[in-house]
Amino acid sequence: MTESVYQATIKKLIAANIVSPRLEARLLIAAAAGVDADTVNDETRLTQSAATVLEQMIEERLNHKPLDKIIGHKAFYKYDFIVNENVLSPRPDTEILVEAAAEIIKKHHLHSVLDLGLGSGCILFSLLKDFPNLYGVGIDKSVAALHVAEQNRLALDISEERARLFNADWFDDDIMNLDDAPFDLIVSNPPYIPSSDIENLDSEVKNFDPKAALDGGQDGLSSYRRIAEASLRLLKDDGFLLTECGIFQAHDISKIFTAAGLKHCQTLPDLSGIERCIIFRKKDCN
Ligand code: GLN
Repeated sequence: MTESVYQATIKKLIAANIVSPRLEARLLIAAAAGVDADTVNDETRLTQSAATVLEQMIEERLNHKPLDKIIGHKAFYKYDFIVNENVLSPRPDTEILVEAAAEIIKKHHLHSVLDLGLGSGCILFSLLKDFPNLYGVGIDKSVAALHVAEQNRLALDISEERARLFNADWFDDDIMNLDDAPFDLIVSNPPYIPSSDIENLDSEVKNFDPKAALDGGQDGLSSYRRIAEASLRLLKDDGFLLTECGIFQAHDISKIFTAAGLKHCQTLPDLSGIERCIIFRKKDCN
């Protein structure tokens, strides 16, 4: 009996030390064949053209292109997001921030949210999907990233009125006059890798995530200094701010925000126990 496409794909991925070969094989075959990943099994047959597409995809994967950037989408939190080379791939660690933000929105009945550095839109749109009465504004300095976010807005069926997306850079002064400000909540996963560390990142990150979404300047903290300053204008007096941070940065970032006048409420670990999400509020936390 000839080997199934599924088994053959798994073998190639195992030989390349891919961590989840079965899952990735199903996702690659599904993308090549245009079917749902749950339906892929040993009986799955491919047309000649789908087989050619699959071969190309496997080759890209063996060259360490991230799976989501090959198949063009990634599951994040409860939803699925379109991705490409112009956006940071959504990470499971960032789901911690979304979960924490969702709890705060629920507990404090928040109505408005600003996402600084929208990327694919995975943070903002996850929150807008969970809370139908919430409206949001998202900014990104990359027009190409905003294009992906716009595709995600449409795919997730979120109206333009509930999600206003702008091309803007938080280092520009215009940001202080953003329409709809001040907001109940600011969320951000800014670039936080120190410039000189970028070269040492995993090749899947270094070669396939946009540099602008990673590079946090000399000490990795440039964006936090600016966001802390901007939050004084952009956040309501009792508003919350949740930000993701890099390894060993939580303490310094807390100092930056508390010096600007915000209160540090909580720091949350990611799935590996690394401090990854910091919650601030303009007034006392409770
Ligand atoms: N989490 C990404 C990484 O570890 C960095 C994303 C960022 O700078 N915000 O590579």
